[in-house]
Amino acid sequence: MRIAFIAHDGKKAELVSFVLQNKNIIGDANIFATGTTGKHLEDAGFHVIKLLSGPIGGDAQIASMVAQDELDLIIFFRDPLEKHPHEPDVQMLLRLCDVHNIPLATNPASAQLILEGL
Ligand code: PGA
Repeated sequence: MRIAFIAHDGKKAELVSFVLQNKNIIGDANIFATGTTGKHLEDAGFHVIKLLSGPIGGDAQIASMVAQDELDLIIFFRDPLEKHPHEPDVQMLLRLCDVHNIPLATNPASAQLILEGL
C-alpha cells in the first residue's frame, strides 16, 4: 500500500493526529508526503518519503505519481477557508485522481471511511 499525505497549513495538526489514531491500519504502508507535511509526520515517528513542499511542486509531484500508477491512496486535508498560491497544482492532483480512479480523501471523515474499508 502506497499512501500520499498532504495537509494545508491549517490542517497539519489534524492530519498528524489522524495518522496517529490510525497507526494500526496504516501499518507498514509506504508513506509519501509533501515536504512540510512529511516533516510533521516524521516528527510524530513515521518513516516518510518526502517530496517537495506543496507550493513549490510537491502536489504536482504527487499528481505525477498518480498518473504513473505509483500511489494507491491520497489523503489530502485541504483548508477550504484559505487561499493557496498553488491552487492550479491542487486542481491538477484532484483531476488526475479522477482520471486514474485513485481513491482520494479530502477530509478526515472520508479518510476514515476509506481506511476502514481497506
Ligand atoms: P506542505 O505542502 O506539506 O509542504 O506544506 C502542502 C500543500 O500546501 O500542498
